[in-house]
Parts: sequence; C-alpha cells; structure tokens
Amino acid sequence: MNIKNNIAKITQNLPQGCQLVAVSKTKSVALIQEAYDAGQRHFGENKVQELVPKFEALPKDICWHMIGHLQSNKVKYIVPFVHLIHSIDSDRLLAEVNRQAKKINRVVSCLLQVHIAREETKFGFSFEELKSFMQSGQIETFDHVRISGLMGMATLTDNETQIAEEFRSLRSAFEELRASPHPASVSMEILSMGMSGDFSLAVAEGSTMIRVGSAIFGNRS
Ligand SMILES: *Cc1c(COP(=O)(O)O)cnc(C)c1O
Repeated sequence: MNIKNNIAKITQNLPQGCQLVAVSKTKSVALIQEAYDAGQRHFGENKVQELVPKFEALPKDICWHMIGHLQSNKVKYIVPFVHLIHSIDSDRLLAEVNRQAKKINRVVSCLLQVHIAREETKFGFSFEELKSFMQSGQIETFDHVRISGLMGMATLTDNETQIAEEFRSLRSAFEELRASPHPASVSMEILSMGMSGDFSLAVAEGSTMIRVGSAIFGNRS
C-alpha cells in the first residue's frame, strides 16, 4: 500500500469543493502519520475509544471526523476536539452533543445521518423523520450545535443504478432542506456520501465530502 499515491489518485479526480476524509479506523498511528505527511488533514474514525487516543497522539491540526454510531454516554469525550460529527441519528443524541458543548462553550458541527439504503439498519433518520425533525422547532433550542448537512450510506451492492438512486435521493433531500427556510443554526453545506467502493458514483450525484478508508490504507482485517 502506498498511502501517498492512493491519496493523490483519489484527490486528483475530486471536483473542487469536495473534501476527502481519510477513514483511519483500525489503522495505526504510524499509518495515519504517513497520510498526514502526505498532506492529508481530515481523518475519520467510528469508535470513540479509538478516536480519543489517536487525537492525543497525532498533530493537533488534524480535523477529526466522527463517522460511526455514537452513544450518548460517550459524547463528552469527543466534544472538546471533534471537527464534525457525521452520525447524528436521533434528536436525543443531538441534545446531548448540545449539552456537552454548552458546558465548554463550544459550538459543534454535526450532520444528520439519513437512512437511504434499502437494507435494514437501526441507524439514521428516515426522510419523513428528517423532515419532521427539521420542522419540529427543536433545533432552535440547541444553541451549541450547528447542523451543517447530511450524511448517508448506500446499500452494499454491485447494483450501481441502485446506489446512484440512493445517493440522488439524499442529494434531493439536501437541496430541498437547503432551499426551505431553516433556523440560523442550520446551514446545509455538507453532503457526506461515498466510500471506497462507491465514491465516484457519490461524487457524480453531488457529494461534497467522501469518507474513504480501504482505498487509502488497504483492507481492514
Ligand atoms: C468504514 C467507514 C467508511 C469507509 O469505508 P471504506 O469502504 O473502507 O472506504 C465510510 N463511512 C463509514 C460510516 C464507515 O464506517
């Protein structure tokens, strides 16, 4: 694995304004440092217990993204430094991020995770839940979080038509929310979609942030 080449290959073909988040879960600090030395600054992790020690060990100008399911009782450990939480999947979780951020007088940027895949998963808002949450008036009461956009994961399938359709549905929800009136703490700017196997499709459907792990660091065991 040549991490530097892999990053160069991916970023070369990204449109301007599309951010690469290098997903470093299960990968060592040494490998992340290698990516850092190649110029990569945005990294994503899916477990708090991995994210915190890596934050502590690595350069402080790294922007750390929390991309995995987040339990409310672990929010406090990442709120002091996290750059963006992609995986807000309930109003209760967002309320806890707000509560912890308020304690340290920080405003934490978050994405709402939307369930776009056909396969069953426990995590993420449905499109209907997303709409009603955005209109519920709840977000206005959270003054220490910023809703910066949406995140979604397509079905794990070889069917590219289906994957593209799922990304397109997220993009259109994103555009709709962006065009409709929303509270000051909401700014629909980031559309986080696309992983190693499907980021080209995601970019074609308007992704502004891709989360790529194995195509950079190799397969995870
Ligand atoms: C692991 C993971 C990725 C990256 O997956 P790859 O297929 O290795 O690129 C992206 N997003 C989320 C939420 C993940 O958990």
